[in-house]
Amino acid sequence: MIVMKFGGTSVQDAAAISRAAEIVASRLEQRPLVVVSALAKVTDALLAMGRAAGAGDRDHALGLCRQLRERHYTVAGEALGTGVFTQFHSELEAHFDSLDELLRGIAAVGELTDRTADNIASFGERISSRIVAAAFSLRGIEAEHVDSTSVLVTDNRFGRALPDFDETNDRLARLVQPLVEKKKVPVMGGFIGATPQGIITTIGRGGSDFSAAIIGAGLHALLIEIWTDVDGMMTTDPNLCPAARRIKLISFDEAAELAYFGAKVLHPATLLPAVQKNIPVQVLNSRNPSNEGTRITARAQHCRNTFKAIAAKKRITIVDVVATRMLGAHGFLKSIFDVFDKHHCVVDVVSTSEVSVSLTVDSNEAIPAIAADLDKLAYVKYEGRKAIVCLVGENIRGTSGIAAKVFSAISDINVRMISQGASEINITFVIDEDDVPDAVRRLHDTFFSDLDPEVFE
Ligand code: ADP
Ligand code: ASP
Ligand code: MG
Repeated sequence: MIVMKFGGTSVQDAAAISRAAEIVASRLEQRPLVVVSALAKVTDALLAMGRAAGAGDRDHALGLCRQLRERHYTVAGEALGTGVFTQFHSELEAHFDSLDELLRGIAAVGELTDRTADNIASFGERISSRIVAAAFSLRGIEAEHVDSTSVLVTDNRFGRALPDFDETNDRLARLVQPLVEKKKVPVMGGFIGATPQGIITTIGRGGSDFSAAIIGAGLHALLIEIWTDVDGMMTTDPNLCPAARRIKLISFDEAAELAYFGAKVLHPATLLPAVQKNIPVQVLNSRNPSNEGTRITARAQHCRNTFKAIAAKKRITIVDVVATRMLGAHGFLKSIFDVFDKHHCVVDVVSTSEVSVSLTVDSNEAIPAIAADLDKLAYVKYEGRKAIVCLVGENIRGTSGIAAKVFSAISDINVRMISQGASEINITFVIDEDDVPDAVRRLHDTFFSDLDPEVFE
């Protein structure tokens, strides 16, 4: 069997859903299971209405919900035609009625907990997967909707819940495998799961890719296809640099570094379950299905270019932690990281000197509390609106003079931190957010003008 995951833009309206149906129909022999995201931008809208309700603005929240209801009715009406839509209407209505009710409850309490935010966010995938399953059936595919919240079991870290692989695999084998064996096409929402007690959770923004990999690994898929709105993984974000080119082949390690450092075409954790089971992942374009896309494989291909791609991750904060006493004392770094850890603050890039440590975090929410905890040891300064730029390629290993070439290409841009990852397949640095487009374009011109045709298109 194979897993086919369609992202938000690939199911955003009736035309997109029809394209997805055609793509799935062309692969029935491979026994597909389909994972879908919410329609494009729906998760953002859901979280916005949750926040409005949490702030006590009930009318605004319900107004946003009304717009979302109308959008889904329109898409479902167009994708299903009047006949089927009429039968399906009450199911859709029930979902939006309970969403309304939830928003009223939140507004009355005036507080949005992480647990309730997950419940609200889950509606996107709960609804999209039902519309897509109905639309597939109408188009002659033997689709069967499977509720992901009864299959994907997670812990209760709301907003970024972690799967319980044993329990999830067990449920996949019991509830989903028999459908595949009967040649049905299961259609499941990505991004969502539930605790063993049945409380709904989400596994992190962009998490439908991860769902696809969890499901693919659990069902021993031969291939995981990630259908999106670009021709595959590109040498850089095509929206940032129109000269971006398609990467035909990339290793798991390279793709994981890129995903982690901002190439949002894939969710960072996506690849782990696939890597462990050695399942190849193919990134494909639902608007251009005949393009081969990008194949992500366990081992790197030989490539004459140093780099495979450049990623940029914006909205980063640099935190400088400067020792106030105990200079040179051992344990300084440990105490610092313990404090960041205590506040669940994820650190991406680190550079140290004798008396200070600079590190980057992608949310500055916890910094005042961290500064207070570090009070006796160090003082803390921070600066937002930074970006991490990361160049990735297995050939960095053992090639000399690369860093010089990178930094001379952007010699007039102020570089705040530099790190060459322990994995030796990335060169990473931090600059002002505003400098990103210029830096990325110049690096792209420097390193991606003469490309190995075996690896790039
Ligand atoms: P989906 O909704 O299908 O999950 P996403 O919006 O999450 O799609 O990811 C696709 C987007 O990722 C593209 O539209 C593109 O703007 C962005 N992107 C960033 N870096 C890259 C890259 N290196 N290659 C391809 N796409 C990239
Ligand atoms: N709909 C979710 C999000 O927007 C998950 C996904 O699209 O992968 O984050
Ligand atoms: Mg995505």
